[in-house]
Amino acid sequence: MIDPAAADPLEPIGAALFRPIGAPGVYARTGLYVDVMQRLDAYVSGMRDASAEVLRFPPVMSRAQLEKSGYLKSFPNLLGCVCALHGTETEIRAAAESYESGGDWTRSLAPSDLVLSPAACYPVYPLAAERGPVPQDGWIFDVAADCFRREPSGALDRLQSFRMREFVRIGTPQSVQGFREEWLGRAPGIAEELGLPCGVEVASDPFFGRTGQVMAVSQRLQSLKFELLIPYHPGAAPTACMSFNYHREHFGTTWGLQSADGDVAHTGCVAFGMDRLTVALFCVHGLDPSRWPASARHALAL
Ligand code: ATP
Ligand code: ZN
Ligand code: MG
Repeated sequence: MIDPAAADPLEPIGAALFRPIGAPGVYARTGLYVDVMQRLDAYVSGMRDASAEVLRFPPVMSRAQLEKSGYLKSFPNLLGCVCALHGTETEIRAAAESYESGGDWTRSLAPSDLVLSPAACYPVYPLAAERGPVPQDGWIFDVAADCFRREPSGALDRLQSFRMREFVRIGTPQSVQGFREEWLGRAPGIAEELGLPCGVEVASDPFFGRTGQVMAVSQRLQSLKFELLIPYHPGAAPTACMSFNYHREHFGTTWGLQSADGDVAHTGCVAFGMDRLTVALFCVHGLDPSRWPASARHALAL
């Protein structure tokens, strides 16, 4: 399908799926693309545990909640904060008008109480903690959001604004580890059904800076994160299209998630990079879904 010798073998694919709207890694999705992504979304819903509670989050979340989650320690470079013009009518008018006279209106911006959500699952832990003790069987959530990360790139697999879907498990250490094992076991079968070549490997988060490297090593040593890796064309460096994360007691301690007996809950999440999976389907199978392999068409009800 793809000529790996071309300068950017994915360029014609990108042109059919995305339309540039003025910033790298920020795109309008075409009808062709959206149709497949919606089918993929339905396919993921079909795999959902019957007890899962569905929540769809907006692309923004509480700044205080994200701060408390520890995000600034790990990924301050990726965070986008919502800023706005505050003040009296005169002050706001003066700031806005400075743009017309060639000035820098952004100097008048001040941070608001919102950030752009960098992952879909952050808001679910404080929301769950509000409910009181974690029941014996724990909870499973199905969450999704359009996420933002400040990592501008021209690559089709690294967007600044992208869709993330997650299954989140909150419960005992055993139940959370079991949940992650189950999904690690299912992942190769999912890729196979979709006709996508894959590997599953231990991974680390892109923690910021020098101290971040220490955090990444520790995360790997404890096998806290795995990824489903899919090469977009033969010989390509594989792209992480899903991740399987075990947070241990981090969110439980942060938000006071605990059982009636006072045991701190553990948490874990399985993330589907909906854009990366959708792009993978087009890169591997081509731009005409009617010609995709039978098992992929069946899975996606094409
Ligand atoms: P990477 O190492 O590739 O940056 P990550 O470890 O930062 O990935 P996670 O934080 O685990 O990714 O996010 C869950 C999933 O969201 C990823 O497995 C991937 O499929 C998707 N994702 C993450 N960052 C991006 C991005 N910039 N553009 C598109 N999808 C992304
Ligand atoms: Zn998560
Ligand atoms: Mg990343």
